[in-house]
Amino acid sequence: MYRGKSIKELNELFLKNELTKEEAFFKANSLAHYFQDDYNSFVTILDKVKIKDTDNVLSGIPYSLKDNFSTSNILTTASSNILKDYVPVFDATVYKKLKKAGASLVGKCVLDELAMGGTGTTGHTGIVKNPYDKTRMIGGSSAGSVASVALGITPFSIGSDTGDSVRKPASFGGVVGFKPTYGLISRYGLFPFASSLDHVAVVSRNVEDSAIVVDNIKGLDPLDMVTYDSSKISLLDSINNDIKGKKLFYIKEICGKDTYKDSDDEELKKVIDSFYELLDNLRKMGFIIEEVSVDKALLEAMYPTYMCISCAEATSNNANLTGIQFGTRGSGESYEDIMFDARTKGFSELIKRRFILGSYILQKENQEKLFLNAKRVRRLIVSKINDLFKEYDGMIAPCSGGVAPHFDKTSEKLSERYLILENHLVIGNFGGFPSITLPFMKIDNLPVGVNITGRVKDDALVLNMAKKIEEITGLKNIYAEVGDVDV
Ligand code: GLN
Repeated sequence: MYRGKSIKELNELFLKNELTKEEAFFKANSLAHYFQDDYNSFVTILDKVKIKDTDNVLSGIPYSLKDNFSTSNILTTASSNILKDYVPVFDATVYKKLKKAGASLVGKCVLDELAMGGTGTTGHTGIVKNPYDKTRMIGGSSAGSVASVALGITPFSIGSDTGDSVRKPASFGGVVGFKPTYGLISRYGLFPFASSLDHVAVVSRNVEDSAIVVDNIKGLDPLDMVTYDSSKISLLDSINNDIKGKKLFYIKEICGKDTYKDSDDEELKKVIDSFYELLDNLRKMGFIIEEVSVDKALLEAMYPTYMCISCAEATSNNANLTGIQFGTRGSGESYEDIMFDARTKGFSELIKRRFILGSYILQKENQEKLFLNAKRVRRLIVSKINDLFKEYDGMIAPCSGGVAPHFDKTSEKLSERYLILENHLVIGNFGGFPSITLPFMKIDNLPVGVNITGRVKDDALVLNMAKKIEEITGLKNIYAEVGDVDV
């Protein structure tokens, strides 16, 4: 009746009076509680709702929000000890817009601490497990957001994506993860991680639902100066356009068959074979798809470039977490002592490591060599992709070389093969390009996603092309059918 339904399907049930908006909320609430012990999607589950009955299609639709979005009077921890008791006094723009549309907030989702990480294992309230296999991670940092949608608790969730934090876990969780163009959605009230890379992003179970949500949360906001006016754009309107003649490229060094011909990794080979099968089917539909080659050195530089820029910006942005203005207060006589105590106890080792890296990169004598060079490499990568976008409408690639890893494997390993294939999603953040991940195959019932990235402000076309993939794979509105619940 409720679980696994899309936004549109729920809206239809409301209109036909077959389900009330209160009932929808309480079904989502009971699912959230039911799955919490096993999967740990939430830091906070809300047990009360004030239904706002509007004509908006999102009215009464339950959703979840990553716990790094500010929500007044609701605990907002960013999954960090330093904010474990922090209750903001203002609303993030995205939350405000969803409230206005009438969507019902079900809970605040676990993330990797301060959104830094890709495993879903570093939040202060514990690890998030993959709904398809509890012995595996869901990925991160928007771990709880993806789990909430992949478990069928909510039809959509709001996350943030600085390097791949929505699109990578979406791939491991068999859901859609959409990061629109930089500036389409306001980040006011999102805890800043790396401002030149940070995006608000949406998790849903089909492409159309992502379009519906983004249409409702986008827009110019004087409180986030990178936003622009998009009032004349409706993403939903162009989602079913004809794609005949649209041109896609894939990068040989990321996912070309030849690149992996000598590999003995069976899983990787399955992913590449399915990817080529998908390309054939897309060609039959009318897409033109070609292989291009990009300098391997440039691609190998993606991860270190990302780490340099993001750690530097994160160190600067998080300097406000002093334990003085807000957050858990440290103890000590002087303000230096208070800060030292709060930050020593408040951050985990991984976060401290990033801040040490960031401080080193920003040190005057290192700035030219590390920070400014990283920015130059970023520009080279973006220019290369923009050159390709003069001829092509989008780039396509699998999101990873395999299914979600087991907990004992570290997802941040720098093996030769994975340095490129596991890190290319960051291109979307470097260039601010619209970028979407959706499920395209399964290995032993574990999903793997494919990604399409397009030109800046071509969000509608990216969704339009993704919709065609969804038609081919049939992997639409899927969720992990675990648990003995009948709601
Ligand atoms: N996994 C990447 C990191 O650890 C991306 C994080 C993100 O997008 N928020 O920085």
